[in-house]
Amino acid sequence: MSSPTLDRVLDAVFRVNGDYAIKYISETGQRWLGSPTAQEHPRNFLTLLHTEDVGRFTDACKEKPEDFSCDVRVIKSGVECWVNVRAYRLASVDQYVLCLIDISLWKTNDAIYRHAAEHDELTGLANRGFFKKTVEAQLHAGQSTFSIALLDLDGFKKVNDTYGHAMGDAVLIETSKRLARIAGPDDVLARLGGDEFVLLLMGQDAAAAHAAVKKALLAIARPYDTAPHSAYLGVSIGIAQFPDHGEDYSTLLKNADTAMYHAKNAGKNRVSIYAADDVSVDFSIKAAMHDGIQEGEFYLEYQPQYNVQRKLIGAEALMRWTSRDFGRVAPDKFIPIVEESGLMPFLGKWALRYACHQLKKFHQKMPGFVMSVNVSPVQFGADGFDSQVMDAITETGVDPTTVILEITESTLMHSQEKTERALALLRERGIRFSIDDFGTGFSSLAYLTRLPVSSIKIDKAFVRAIEEQRTASATDMKLITAMINLAHSIDLKVVAEGVENEAQFDFLKDAGCDLIQGYLLGKPMSADAISRLLDQHEGTPA
Ligand code: C2E
Ligand code: CA
Ligand code: CA
Repeated sequence: MSSPTLDRVLDAVFRVNGDYAIKYISETGQRWLGSPTAQEHPRNFLTLLHTEDVGRFTDACKEKPEDFSCDVRVIKSGVECWVNVRAYRLASVDQYVLCLIDISLWKTNDAIYRHAAEHDELTGLANRGFFKKTVEAQLHAGQSTFSIALLDLDGFKKVNDTYGHAMGDAVLIETSKRLARIAGPDDVLARLGGDEFVLLLMGQDAAAAHAAVKKALLAIARPYDTAPHSAYLGVSIGIAQFPDHGEDYSTLLKNADTAMYHAKNAGKNRVSIYAADDVSVDFSIKAAMHDGIQEGEFYLEYQPQYNVQRKLIGAEALMRWTSRDFGRVAPDKFIPIVEESGLMPFLGKWALRYACHQLKKFHQKMPGFVMSVNVSPVQFGADGFDSQVMDAITETGVDPTTVILEITESTLMHSQEKTERALALLRERGIRFSIDDFGTGFSSLAYLTRLPVSSIKIDKAFVRAIEEQRTASATDMKLITAMINLAHSIDLKVVAEGVENEAQFDFLKDAGCDLIQGYLLGKPMSADAISRLLDQHEGTPA
């Protein structure tokens, strides 16, 4: 801190409670605030902030509760003053230490503080100019090794074109946050423009950079709260390493770009390292999935379903993936990628056959045991879905009336003649259908009367709303009762999922719900564990 300007920067240190109540202000801080006696100190740190900045500050805290940084305006003797706050959590006492640097000089003096010129307005990340300068400073300082990763979203144009620029912007902001979580503390993340981001990975060769950025594949593949779930985004990443792939900024960036295009051409949603002969090395979730399927990394778990007398009557098959590269990946994360990558018909077929095989074994212990299998809209839309199902049934010799296919409302909403024909055909063979996540879509019971559906599955979001006292969220509870009555009136059975406590169970039982699934009665488990449950259930009266 030898710069004469920085010497003029005033520091203040605060210690605050979890609710920002001030416990301590440093002496310099007290002078800086201009409040000479302790009595005059504000009680809560938030009251010091410009009202427009309070939300941003608390959001920054929520987003990175262990340590975060945020530029805000403090109102000091009636005058607003820009400060940079760095917060560090003291976990043992649930307090924060807030270190303030007065940056009003920087904020007002462009020559010193070029935040606006160096940052991207939309995402707040560094911009292209700042990134270039940072890399050039590294080159100048004689840095040994570092890598540049260029990240370009897959599917962004579609979101932007289909849902408009406001949603496009929201997706870019969300993307920048997800990428920021992947960047190390010394790395520099910037937005080059559009849906193109770039990451400077300090001290990392291409292999290390590769290991670091492949996390971005999963981070981006997660559904965006800001975009419809049908909008699948991915990211293609190219890596260039200094000095092997370039000794100046523009060569490095150009080669990272080449590698990124290689990743796009190889099928998107993957990482590629630059190679002079352009035989770039690939890595992708999709590749990991292909391997994973061959290596048997995918398997099924079964979550038991009970009637309201607590008799075990069936199970839902749930897909699991424990990847060598990514560890255990939640189905909410990998299913959209499977769908987008075109592997769903294959993996779905496997799940169906596997579940039927298992069901056949369960039938040795309990002949009427019912197996529910999830079917993705992608599978349903594919040609030959009905024969696929029938093949699995015939091959295993399982009774088709003990198989239930769970489909979502959106499958039906967007259903075409082909889908409806497949539905009717399978229904004729005795297979039943259940509407999954009921109540979360555009529930119109009209189409349920038209289609061969035998049950609805009330989404766990509704079940969660059932409170101990039966007073709170009365609307949700009325809604559940209404759904059950309505379903019964058109001869549909009702399953509730996500039942976690006795209060929820009692309410659903009283409301007339037919079947119960949830952690209260059983978490998803192995086939062996289900077999043991069936042994215990032997002789239980129906
Ligand atoms: P889903 O069909 O709605 O499945 C129910 C989800 O709720 C499962 O999550 C289950 O583990 C979870 N769950 C069950 N009981 C409780 C509870 O008491 N509390 C809470 N909080 N959660 C509970 P999971 O296994 O993570 O699956 C997520 C989603 O992935 C499924 O939602 C389904 O849409 C999809 N999925 C899973 N397996 C398959 C499959 O084989 N094929 C297809 N197409 N989709 C699948
Ligand atoms: Ca389901
Ligand atoms: Ca569900």
